[in-house]
Amino acid sequence: MGGYGSGRSSYKQKAEHCRSLDVNRLHRAGSLQHGSQGSWVWSSEDAEVARVGYKTDHSRFVLNYKVRQNRGDWEPITQPIPLTYSSCHYGNQRPYFLCPGIVAGQHCGRRVGKLYSGGRYFLCRHCYNISYASQSEDRHNRMLRRANKLRTALGGEPGAAHWIAPKPKGMWERTYQRKRLKIDWCEDQANSWFIEKYAHLLGTEERAMFFDPE
Ligand SMILES: [Zn+2]
Repeated sequence: MGGYGSGRSSYKQKAEHCRSLDVNRLHRAGSLQHGSQGSWVWSSEDAEVARVGYKTDHSRFVLNYKVRQNRGDWEPITQPIPLTYSSCHYGNQRPYFLCPGIVAGQHCGRRVGKLYSGGRYFLCRHCYNISYASQSEDRHNRMLRRANKLRTALGGEPGAAHWIAPKPKGMWERTYQRKRLKIDWCEDQANSWFIEKYAHLLGTEERAMFFDPE
């Protein structure tokens, strides 16, 4: 399976390297039919720039790929994405992804035509643009606000879907690693609160993904 993603060093790079999956293009290519499998390839000027493996199992489009951040180890990811269909004119059925995002304590589940990769998973644009205005003072929100403050202080963007920014110039490696751990810890705290509360709403794969992380 081809590799995918390598963090980001600037906004421009992020914009250029942002991959998206379009449910209609996959549909036209026959990739959403049960039993279909293969690779989805992104190219630029006839050269392949990235690919992910996929397999369609009834109404789930399951992605297989590897990610790496900041020259770390490659991490294998299996991401099942539920599909849904709505009937439209002339008896045709129109496919949609159900966004599998559980980002910053919110289960998304939006019906969308496109998913993007700006971090570890393919999620909808809402998941990558969640607004963090705090509504209440509970522990969950406190943890997310603390994580987001650390994320932006490092030059990154708020939200657990994004990669944590690379180490700023002049910062000690040890300081940087400590901040990263703290971000992870805060987001884990927020997520476990959410997952415990809504575990009954998750599918088997989602549960495995969040209760049994690699
Ligand atoms: Zn989403």
